[in-house]
Amino acid sequence: KKVIKLSSNENALGASPKALIAYIEHAKDVFRYADGASTLLREKIAQKNNINSNQIVCGAGSDEIIALLTSSFASVGDEIIYSEYGFLMYPISAQRVGAKAIKVKEKNLKTDIEAIINAVNKKTKIIFIANPNNPTGSYLNKEEIIKLVSNIPSNVLIVLDHAYQEFVEVDDFYDGLEIVNNYKNVVLTRTFSKIYGLASLRIGWSYSSQNIADILNKARGPFNVSGPAQVSALASLDDDDFTQASKNHNTKWLKILQNELGSINKIKIHPSIANFILIDFLQNKNCEKVNQKLLENLIIFREMKGYGLPTCLRATIGTDQENEIILENIKKICHEL
Ligand code: PMP
Repeated sequence: KKVIKLSSNENALGASPKALIAYIEHAKDVFRYADGASTLLREKIAQKNNINSNQIVCGAGSDEIIALLTSSFASVGDEIIYSEYGFLMYPISAQRVGAKAIKVKEKNLKTDIEAIINAVNKKTKIIFIANPNNPTGSYLNKEEIIKLVSNIPSNVLIVLDHAYQEFVEVDDFYDGLEIVNNYKNVVLTRTFSKIYGLASLRIGWSYSSQNIADILNKARGPFNVSGPAQVSALASLDDDDFTQASKNHNTKWLKILQNELGSINKIKIHPSIANFILIDFLQNKNCEKVNQKLLENLIIFREMKGYGLPTCLRATIGTDQENEIILENIKKICHEL
């Protein structure tokens, strides 16, 4: 029987066929070191986003960029702020450098900007915000981002992690590119792991002031992004049809799953604008029971205990068939609770 793995927010449609061809064609060149500066890829990203390629740094996944930012700007005794249900790599990367991770309470599973602004003190070095956030799927709109950024001292780095940006459909979402030009302490991170479907190749990028880009370039390894990753990412950016199809698929199923699951009695759905949904079974024991039954049926969701959300499971949007199967399974299991 086939396993349905919906635990890591990968693209339901896989990767772009153009990216796969580029990947295979690159095989004959793997004996060579790749371009250490990811030049062609940075130029393509710059052209697509109308930004300066010198301010872009590519990394082995945006995880590497997060780690580089943390090790470059924080150390023992410093504080790094993140939101209560924010992405766990932020406190993990803080721990790695001996900095203290400060968890700021959320309101209704959404980042509380006022509370973040109030948590800043002399020890604060970095604020990490995922927008939209994983695992809650909630987001801060343009007005909220500008309010946050304009109320944080300029010596504190603000990292806006936009790993899921390409899936977003709402009108008041802000891509943040312009804010980087106006605020030298803001860094944007993006990834090829999600809508572009290249998670295994490990490739992401940051956009920041020239100063910060220079620091990241000194801190990273000389060949941190592999050749297969660079050529596949480059080809992905040329496949707008695939990206659009992925987005359409996600938008369609987000709506269906949120409506259908939300209409089940024992479940609460937290609205998401990314490629996953947070399903709240309201009681620990119900959540555990559902997860156990799903696993027995070879359906893997992400447990949320580590995030302090023990009544929830996070489910990535799957293929048409996977989504039909999970709907059927959850309805049946919940009926028997
Ligand atoms: N940021 C967020 C919010 C994520 O959910 C993830 C992946 N789970 C990442 C960053 C890291 O992605 P990658 O290292 O694959 O680019």
